[in-house]
Amino acid sequence: MSSTENIGTVYLIGAGPGDPGLVTVRARELIETADVLVYDYLANPKLLEWARVDAEKIYVGKRSGLHSIPQDEIEEILVDRAHKGLQVVRLKGGDPFVFGRGGEEIGELQKDKIPFEIVPGVTAALATAAYAGIPLSHRNYSSSITFLTGHENPEKHSLSIDFKQHAKTTGTLCLYMSLGQLPRILGELKAGGMSGETPVGIIQWATLNRQRSVYGTVDSIIDDIEAAGIGTPAMIIIGEVVAQRSKTEWFEGRPLFGKRIVVTRAREQAGQLTELLESNGAEVLELPFIKVQPDFDPKLVSEVLAGIAVYEWIIFTSANGVKQFFDLFYKAFDDIRCLGPMRIAAVGAATARAIEAHKLKVDLVPKKANADALAAELIENEGVESVQMLVITGNQNREALVQRLETEGRAIVDTLPLYKTTKTDLSGHPAAEHFRKHGADAVLFTSSSTVKSFVDQQAALALESDAQQPAFGSIGPLTTKSLNAHKLPIGFEAKHASLDHFVQATIQHLQG
Ligand code: SAH
Repeated sequence: MSSTENIGTVYLIGAGPGDPGLVTVRARELIETADVLVYDYLANPKLLEWARVDAEKIYVGKRSGLHSIPQDEIEEILVDRAHKGLQVVRLKGGDPFVFGRGGEEIGELQKDKIPFEIVPGVTAALATAAYAGIPLSHRNYSSSITFLTGHENPEKHSLSIDFKQHAKTTGTLCLYMSLGQLPRILGELKAGGMSGETPVGIIQWATLNRQRSVYGTVDSIIDDIEAAGIGTPAMIIIGEVVAQRSKTEWFEGRPLFGKRIVVTRAREQAGQLTELLESNGAEVLELPFIKVQPDFDPKLVSEVLAGIAVYEWIIFTSANGVKQFFDLFYKAFDDIRCLGPMRIAAVGAATARAIEAHKLKVDLVPKKANADALAAELIENEGVESVQMLVITGNQNREALVQRLETEGRAIVDTLPLYKTTKTDLSGHPAAEHFRKHGADAVLFTSSSTVKSFVDQQAALALESDAQQPAFGSIGPLTTKSLNAHKLPIGFEAKHASLDHFVQATIQHLQG
């Protein structure tokens, strides 16, 4: 804590334009350690996955025209939590000081003598230009860049800027919050002397895989927007540089760009599949068939942590367990050496990666990623007789591992359950709703159990009549068998049962 009177600090953080990869390292650090996170409509909710499981997350989003939490209430929340001694992260889309009311929020904090810090973010104009390949400045075409807003405040529907003044510029204009007012703005620009031939680019949801763009001129763009079906949030770039944009569409040109793909979040590797698909440009809808929640006995946690250094082995059976364990560990200790000199085992590669993120080497990952193989390798290769071991688990699949270590290996095993896994009901879940309404290009199944869950949730996933019918993709023969058994038509199957091959097969199918 940076204050002596136990007042928390408020961190006003630029959440960038959308792609979580575009936030600063500082932003990530603060998100990971915050007690409270207050976030906007334009701040990608994925950033919250970095937060501590027990952090309080408050959505204060507003959308142009729709009801939203009033600004003074947001400020009240920040002040209230800071007074409780909590570290508060206030996440705002783009940069907090570019049309983001950052000034108002720190004004309020200053009044209450609450310490604050400001972390800049990539503002929408810069991100949009980069992802559309438009150089905002250009030695031959533009030597100034102007950021303008169509309305200062989404609730206010009048032009607050004299656009005529900007009509004669030889530079680039970047218009925020202007789509609704565009006919009036363009009228003003023309009245001020701007040529109707001036190039205009409009980019919606820049940096996300649902980015869409349309190009035209001051005279044509209103019709072009309609034809392209572009909506908010959108950045409007006006100037000669728009015509100088790169002919290679590095972002919108990727193989799965514009495709919507459903994956099931039934296993840890879902995250990896999602990453692969997204890096190829797909918009991914993750259906969480199971839900993981913290669930532990605080007394047991304190006891185990107090004696943590006595264990010779610590065994993690899932990446979830790793995350929960370290969240609790860092709350109790501020030095990683408090772990002691133990050795570390992980059930599989995803779990090992989660551990390595803490700069800890994993001593054992079994060749086959399951609890049985882990027990067998520990017993055979390491000799665990009378060895003190700690197993970090959820509420499932722990008995077999512990029993084998105890009876066959004669180890002394303590179990620390930290979370529970339950089936989710997808009705009303945003990704499921989106799927029901719009359908998808493909649904990818990575195991028989994902097929089964999908069929179980049929009611929540029944497509509306005009939704796009997806192709069903299978990772391999076993999964295909279960699709057949449930009478789901196979669209394509991966050549080999690996995520890379699966993504290749998806690209081939959807491009072909
Ligand atoms: N503080 C933010 C701007 C908030 S105003 C920033 O620095 O970017 C909201 C406006 O920003 C939207 O109406 C839109 O014009 C623009 N905007 C934000 N994110 C965007 C995105 N991903 N793509 C296109 N425009 C975006």
